[in-house]
Amino acid sequence: MKEYDVVTIGAGGAAYPAAFKLKRSGYNVIMIDKKGVMSGNCLSEGCVPSKAIIESVHKYNTLKGILDLKVDYKKIVDHKDSVQRLRYSDHDRELGEADLKIIKGTGRLVDENTVEVDTGTGIERYHADNIIIATGADTFIPNIKGSELAVTSRDFYSMDPKIKSVPESITIIGGGYIGVETGSFLSILGSRVTIIEMLDRILESMETDIIDKLIPLLPRMDVKTSSEVKSIEKFNDKLKVLLNDGEIVSDMVMMAAGRHPVLPEGLDDLGIKYTKHGINVNMSMQTNIKNIYATGDVNGITPLFHAAKRQSIIAANNIMAGNVPVDYFDPISVPFTLYTIPQLAYVGILPAQAERLGIEHYEATYDMKKDSLAEINNEVYGEITLVFDKRMKIIGGYVIGNDAGNIINEIALCVSRGLSLRDLAEMSHQHPMSFEGLDSAARKFY
Ligand code: ADP
Repeated sequence: MKEYDVVTIGAGGAAYPAAFKLKRSGYNVIMIDKKGVMSGNCLSEGCVPSKAIIESVHKYNTLKGILDLKVDYKKIVDHKDSVQRLRYSDHDRELGEADLKIIKGTGRLVDENTVEVDTGTGIERYHADNIIIATGADTFIPNIKGSELAVTSRDFYSMDPKIKSVPESITIIGGGYIGVETGSFLSILGSRVTIIEMLDRILESMETDIIDKLIPLLPRMDVKTSSEVKSIEKFNDKLKVLLNDGEIVSDMVMMAAGRHPVLPEGLDDLGIKYTKHGINVNMSMQTNIKNIYATGDVNGITPLFHAAKRQSIIAANNIMAGNVPVDYFDPISVPFTLYTIPQLAYVGILPAQAERLGIEHYEATYDMKKDSLAEINNEVYGEITLVFDKRMKIIGGYVIGNDAGNIINEIALCVSRGLSLRDLAEMSHQHPMSFEGLDSAARKFY
């Protein structure tokens, strides 16, 4: 039995920020991860590699009218691989500098203070005062006949991925953010994309009025809503997707029907409560056992890497406070970016939601069609909209178009710190940069 102050199960964004912070503060910490490396699915097959591909295509799309460009998809994949390699070596160095270790293996909870690890060559036991469960989430594969014929995001974004060329045609099962982001860049590269969605619209988890503004700006994708996939089968050298209301033949089928939490073994024996959405936690990230925390995708609250990092720090702060909570998670001020081409980003309370909640609200909008940097970047569409209440406090906002994923962070800061429209109006954002739309929007009221 090895003795520690804190053991994390998983070494992704929900684990390592806590591990570094606790280690710096003198705690004896160990991380356990199936992959044996830091950064979880974000770096192995998620945010980082997908952005390495999507941003390359995004740049191609905006520059192709100015420069004489040709796309070699294999080179984009090579670039993605090199970014992943670089980041893994950065992480190795950071771990070494912090004198932190990751044990490669699968962790299982034995009791309130013990994690057992199957390393593949043996079983080890780690005893700790506190445990952070940070086991993340994985692609959900629905029980559909022939689902093994479909690729997943892993086949596009993992290191040395299976897919190294653009399929002539692809059917994407699921109109959530992963399917729509992937479909959007493939369409720009010439693929005929069809998205099948069971519900009556794609991007169903997002506010309709905002999605309705984005959809006309997206590259061409055929979308079939209220349609259910029954099975997938081989059809000559192609694949046929059978639906309740027809069939589609394409070169490739991608499964993008959502993600589900990865629960470690031992939860039931310990009586740790969970649902199909993830492990139940309070806003201090504690499970029903106060020295056992569950952070990141595994609790399902805000399954995004940057939310996982924040939750990880919250767990660390509360562990340092002796499991008497001093830090809490605020999901409202976590921004979300949809990395389609163009991007959509939003944070806080949006107009339709304010309406539903009966919050008196107003909007300040900046037209990106008149923005200098949008013109320079050849992305002359979209908008920045700030949502504020009757006290002029910014309660939310959204951005469509040029640099949306960056601009949204400043709106998130306003939401989390309770800043007002006047605070933004009085800023001198640099010209000609994308953030200047923020003070321009706010000045409409000052
Ligand atoms: P998050 O963003 O919430 O940290 P990730 O999916 O990025 O989620 O990271 C979770 C990590 O946990 C992955 O690297 C995964 O391999 C690892 N993992 C999942 N289950 C176990 C387990 N039982 N034991 C050890 N590692 C695990």
